[in-house]
Amino acid sequence: MKNANSNRDDFSRPVIRALAARAGWQCCFDGCSKLTVGPSEEGPDKITTIGIAAHICAASPNFRRYDPNATHDQRSDISNGIWLCSDHATLIDRDDVTYSETSLRAMKRRHEEACARAVRVGSSSAPVSGLVALGPAIIVTATIAGIESDAWTFKLSHFLAGDPHEIATFIGSFSSVQPYDKYVLCNELGDGRAVTGAPSLKKDDDGYVLRCPVSPIFPRTDVRRIGSGLATNDESNDLFLDAKGDIACVSGSEYFPQRVKEVLSMQRGESPFHRGFGMRFFEYFQSYSGSPWLDLLFKLDVIRQASIPYEDTVTGRHYTPLQCVTRVHTVELLSDQPSANRLPVRLRLDVNGLGTWERELRIYMPTAEQMAEIANRPRFD
Ligand SMILES: [Zn+2]
Repeated sequence: MKNANSNRDDFSRPVIRALAARAGWQCCFDGCSKLTVGPSEEGPDKITTIGIAAHICAASPNFRRYDPNATHDQRSDISNGIWLCSDHATLIDRDDVTYSETSLRAMKRRHEEACARAVRVGSSSAPVSGLVALGPAIIVTATIAGIESDAWTFKLSHFLAGDPHEIATFIGSFSSVQPYDKYVLCNELGDGRAVTGAPSLKKDDDGYVLRCPVSPIFPRTDVRRIGSGLATNDESNDLFLDAKGDIACVSGSEYFPQRVKEVLSMQRGESPFHRGFGMRFFEYFQSYSGSPWLDLLFKLDVIRQASIPYEDTVTGRHYTPLQCVTRVHTVELLSDQPSANRLPVRLRLDVNGLGTWERELRIYMPTAEQMAEIANRPRFD
């Protein structure tokens, strides 16, 4: 007899993590929404979870909704998973008539959409309210507990990346954290700050409270003084010639949209001289594509480029890449898939010297093959 466990197509850890995060760590089953994670009594940095990354089409024969024509990759893909509490994971595996593939997919979509809506509007009845990033490895849903000129405090809910242990490590090894990674970003504020000292993490009855000592706001440039660049066509990136036949330049507020597009189109790892510079759009796109979380993660990263100064070790210059953006209101993806390596995005930003500015831009998004090829190029930093 065939052992069902020998050929299971299980989910990888990152897929399990992403499924849980996309569901706000709640069971996706209609009407359940049970929270599947919380602080553990075992210790201040321990969490307990009762959630299961269940297969929509079973991972092995002899189980419900098994599709013999699906490949290993299809069965272990995030699109074949649904985050459930242990009770509902058991229930759907008993009854594949009521819980068909179609009905499970619909449940998952409804729940993920509800989570994303709750995050956007900051609903207090929802367990998730906004995203906060502490350095690149920790992203957590949180509510604002206090904003002072020298410290930001948050009540943490659920981790999309990292966990309380990772925060403890960040605190314990703060002096050796890369300077450019010492930051805190808050989606609700549309703003971020450099973290000036080791944060503190306290556990109370219903969760964790994180307090970050922060620097004063980094000075922004007036849009009229951001310099100039070559004028390029939004669609083709071709250069223009001016009336005299020279390559056309734009400056100030006319250059600004192009500057935003340049910053947002540079993926982290693409520059051979500044390895740490650039957006994490590509990384997020790989893990969260098709999920309502993607817009919120993109927004966090635009906030980072607007508020956290980068030190150019070649020129010694200190600047925030989006030099004159003082606040990020919204970052909205207008398509799930790039076309010809371009992804349409609508942005609403506060700009020093312009006020509130809104625009659709098509930003560059490389394919996985292109990023792998870039990673193999020689480095100069
Ligand atoms: Zn449930």
